[in-house]
Amino acid sequence: MEHSQILEIFKKTNALLEGHFLLTSGKHSNQYFQCAKVLQYPEHLQAICKIIAGHFKNEYIDTVISPAIGGIVVGQEVARQLNKRFIFAERQDGKMSLRRGFTISPNENILVCEDVVTTGGSVFEVIDLVKENNSNIVGVGMIVDRSNGKVNFGVNQISTLALEVITYEKDNCPLCNEGKIELVKPGSRNFKK
Ligand code: ZN
Repeated sequence: MEHSQILEIFKKTNALLEGHFLLTSGKHSNQYFQCAKVLQYPEHLQAICKIIAGHFKNEYIDTVISPAIGGIVVGQEVARQLNKRFIFAERQDGKMSLRRGFTISPNENILVCEDVVTTGGSVFEVIDLVKENNSNIVGVGMIVDRSNGKVNFGVNQISTLALEVITYEKDNCPLCNEGKIELVKPGSRNFKK
């Protein structure tokens, strides 16, 4: 799939909205992005994860791992396509941990999958968790790299879409200055999509 086709799927499913948005940070943006909106459709989930699975298909992989919650659906689908074991890590008392009886054996080869990477914090924590268990990171697969390629995990990494987040301070927002598009807060009552 071409980059433009992927972008089209994100727009069609309202995962990527264009307009004038108030972000939780208090900043304004011309885009609002919610990856779960595209992954709710099995055909899109399958097609997008196929890019990640294809990228790593010749690597020796024992297990796919994702940070909860957003990464779970991605890791599960990539693992299904590669026919590998899938586990997820979740925060317990602030620390990324394996729960639910999930374990990593020494010297396992592990692929990390995530839905959206902005600063890469959760993925870095999962990488540390894998290394603490004396296992190897094969690579990192992500649906969207919101750092536009700036986050470097130091391993074989792929994103199906790289987007730069453009934000404005509320006092210096060109969309406010233009005054043509109403500012909306995603999740609020007047937020239609
Ligand atoms: Zn604004």
